[in-house]
Amino acid sequence: MQIKRIACEEAFNIPEIARELNKIAKAGGTSKDLVLIRALYGDGVTGYNAQFVPKLIDVDDRLKQMDALGIDMHVLSITVPGVQMFDADTATEYARLVNDRLAEIVARHPRRYAALACFAPHSPKRAAKEIERAIGSLHLNGLIVNSHTNDQYYDDEKYYPFFEAAEALDAAIYLHPRAPMTGLDRPLDKYWMEGALWGYAIETSTHALRLIFCGLFDRFPNLKVVLGHMGEGLPFWVTRLDFMHDEAVVVGTAPRLKLKPSEYLKRNFVITTSGQENHLALKYSVDVLGEDNVMWAIDYPYQPMEPAVRFMDTAPLSDAVKAKVYGGNAARVFHIK
Ligand code: MN
Repeated sequence: MQIKRIACEEAFNIPEIARELNKIAKAGGTSKDLVLIRALYGDGVTGYNAQFVPKLIDVDDRLKQMDALGIDMHVLSITVPGVQMFDADTATEYARLVNDRLAEIVARHPRRYAALACFAPHSPKRAAKEIERAIGSLHLNGLIVNSHTNDQYYDDEKYYPFFEAAEALDAAIYLHPRAPMTGLDRPLDKYWMEGALWGYAIETSTHALRLIFCGLFDRFPNLKVVLGHMGEGLPFWVTRLDFMHDEAVVVGTAPRLKLKPSEYLKRNFVITTSGQENHLALKYSVDVLGEDNVMWAIDYPYQPMEPAVRFMDTAPLSDAVKAKVYGGNAARVFHIK
């Protein structure tokens, strides 16, 4: 059986944004994103952290590693925090630049790269326009957003223009982590807990649940949201989510929805394996969410490529299911020919 290896959460950056993040690193502030931004984009970064910006910007050298490991394709997306820490006008402008640059890369390597477009959530109507341009004209493969913007989640109706555009174009939105928003961040301010160790999952799973509980998927039933890191832990919670959400509706603290939370997870979400290379978690997630709803991702360059390939090559899945998780589902979700 022919298995295509398509990695779905592969980070990328452009020098212009790296320079802006250097300014943000120096400007100070209270956002917990600054821990990562200072470590990667600050002045005079040396040692282990010095590898990341060059690897994020490079799209030629990484092909050699992909070749050596038999990886067919990286689905590229702008790395955290994307354009979302810039003011709305600057973010809108940079989103266009990033999407143009991604379109050029895909045009140069159409068999090796696909790409997710970014947008400026804090300008929802212009975000919808950029989504129409990026998917309709540039033919990018889907969308990415790094969780909250300016400490707001997108369960507020003012953000619905970009969900409406995404649904109309069948463009899946990758809800990627960033450090927890103000308030959620306080208990996570030690031990590097604000980031990929733990805080990212708290932030992103919370955001995803707000999207479910507000009724977003009753309003946009065909909208697809992608969650990385084995669904940010949510697959493990389906039983408690369904039971307790029912209670919340009965006591009137949450609006009544057409489906159970777990049913939205199965219908409107697709998860990826990024950074969670654990066969039991994979098997469980495929069993709970279905074989069409789990996709392979590496999270390069933050996670190395080789163990991610070994993880899938040795995964306890039938050949047919493995073909779906390794690339078939990504080809369907992100319209990759
Ligand atoms: Mn990532």
